[in-house]
Amino acid sequence: MNVSGKADAAVLSKVYPTRSHSGAAQGGFNAVMGEDDSIEAHVFDTVKGSDYLGDQEAIEVLCSDGPRVILDLERMGVPWTRAEDGRIAQRSLGGAGFPRACFAADFSGHVVLHTLYEQALKRGVKTYPEWHLLEILVDKGRVFGAVIYDLARARLEVIRAKRIVLATGGYGRAFLKTTNGHANTGDGMAIAYRAGAVLSDMEFVQFHPTTLYGTNILISEAARGEGGYLRNALGERFMAEYAPGKMELAPRDVVARAIFKEIKEGRGFEGHYVHLDLTHLGERLVAERLPQVRDLAIRYSGVDPARVPMPIEPAQHYSMGGVRTDVWGMTGLEGLMAAGEVANVSVHGANRLGGNSLLETVVFGARAGRKAAELAPGEPWPDVSSNTVKDALDRWNRLCLAPSAHSRSDDDQFAVRREMATIMTNQVGVFRTGVELEDAVARLEGLRKRYRDLPVPVGPQPFNYGLMDYIEVGHLLDLSEIIARGALARRESRGAHYRLDFPQRDDRNWLHHTFAHTTDRGPEFSAGPVSITRFQPQERGY
Ligand SMILES: Cc1cc2nc3c(=O)[nH]c(=O)nc-3n(C[C@H](O)[C@H](O)[C@H](O)COP(=O)(O)OP(=O)(O)OC[C@H]3O[C@@H](n4cnc5c(N)ncnc54)[C@H](O)[C@@H]3O)c2cc1C
Repeated sequence: MNVSGKADAAVLSKVYPTRSHSGAAQGGFNAVMGEDDSIEAHVFDTVKGSDYLGDQEAIEVLCSDGPRVILDLERMGVPWTRAEDGRIAQRSLGGAGFPRACFAADFSGHVVLHTLYEQALKRGVKTYPEWHLLEILVDKGRVFGAVIYDLARARLEVIRAKRIVLATGGYGRAFLKTTNGHANTGDGMAIAYRAGAVLSDMEFVQFHPTTLYGTNILISEAARGEGGYLRNALGERFMAEYAPGKMELAPRDVVARAIFKEIKEGRGFEGHYVHLDLTHLGERLVAERLPQVRDLAIRYSGVDPARVPMPIEPAQHYSMGGVRTDVWGMTGLEGLMAAGEVANVSVHGANRLGGNSLLETVVFGARAGRKAAELAPGEPWPDVSSNTVKDALDRWNRLCLAPSAHSRSDDDQFAVRREMATIMTNQVGVFRTGVELEDAVARLEGLRKRYRDLPVPVGPQPFNYGLMDYIEVGHLLDLSEIIARGALARRESRGAHYRLDFPQRDDRNWLHHTFAHTTDRGPEFSAGPVSITRFQPQERGY
């Protein structure tokens, strides 16, 4: 299709595009809209929130582009919630010095995703739903296309492309307790890594403080932004002990650790959860500003939060690490670009602030798209031998379709997956120790060996979800090992990475990014510089 008369673009997604995880986002998009707020303040909050590991050059871009992108979205049709005076309303989210999140009730991601999808349809952009990216094809150091699996037709396809922009989201499903959708299996990160791109800061995993106990369905930070309280079983607003200045609106790493500690030290309800209490806010506010929160709590916990406090516990929520890019979405691999949660620019460093991720998707997604459209028309089609394509197709054909005798093992991929996710939640979670991480790495290596011997659910039938699950587990295992190894190597505590055996931040030795590269021997790690421009590292208190 012709985009701005310049380049042909298509969108591929392994789910129907409007079912992407972005549609679950409730809280909002941070941007400086009011006169009393400033870009500098947004930059500072983000740098401090990142525990000084965020690249300040990239954070400047994120915060400066924000207001324009919010207005662009409005012109495309996003119905932002309004304040009394008719301006775009903004609410407080954690770690922000100002009510800075633009929102549409608590359906913020949903409305933006649908608006952008409508705009893409209107412009004739072709979409391929339920097409799974399997491999990025590289020849002589340059990307020339991809191998795809069309789930509905059970067919492999090769797509030629001058540029590929990955926008494939996070890897939350590596963890047993996660707020993420089932599709969030880190495919893009694992596939880019296998193709030779660098992953950065994978040890930094965000745990959201407030998920419904039992299902781990997210209760948006908007609930605390609108004034919700956290209470332990003694009825205490315990955040006074941990972050007296910001209370419930301290950043997520701080609040998640506080809740975990309250529960561990016996001040949780039934030993497992604390309460998020909205009952003092009044039924009208809950109905108007938090309708989805209310609906989710009634459906999945059986409590109406306007009347009864919700039972909550922390769970994995966001992937700070990802494919290393510059501020235009360029990876180190010629022709491969990335934006959104799959990427690491890095604007979130060691800990992301609520509302900054949706902003990242629309700011850096737009920049990557623009750059790709600008570059692609002038680039020659890569010269590829038909053998390179044939080899790749043969390999995938053997794996996906051939009903050959792959394995006689009666092991099963779901058992491997469950063990992996349990290790990640129990040993690579909110609090980490060297001993547990070492054990996690060894056990994950063992699971990788088991994975290689698994029977593959092959077959020519359409909608072979078993096969897709098998491939996704392979991605999650690659990433889990990199996350655990990175966490073991980083002997300090910073942002969401908390080592009980190294509880202090150590700027002298660890104020750097962790880069992971693939080698024949497994992942190899190196240190990358952090861009520090305006704000020198300080102690981070709230
Ligand atoms: C419940 C929840 C609430 C959140 N609330 C907020 C919030 O209020 N504010 C905020 O800033 N952030 C929030 N976040 C984080 C934020 O929503 C996400 O980081 C962001 O939406 C990710 O967008 P994305 O475009 O990078 O990826 P996604 O929206 O996850 O989309 C990924 C796309 O890639 C496709 N894909 C993946 N793998 C493949 C493959 N192998 N082949 C083909 N296609 C593939 C998927 O099908 C999907 O279409 C929330 C996250 C969750 C889980």
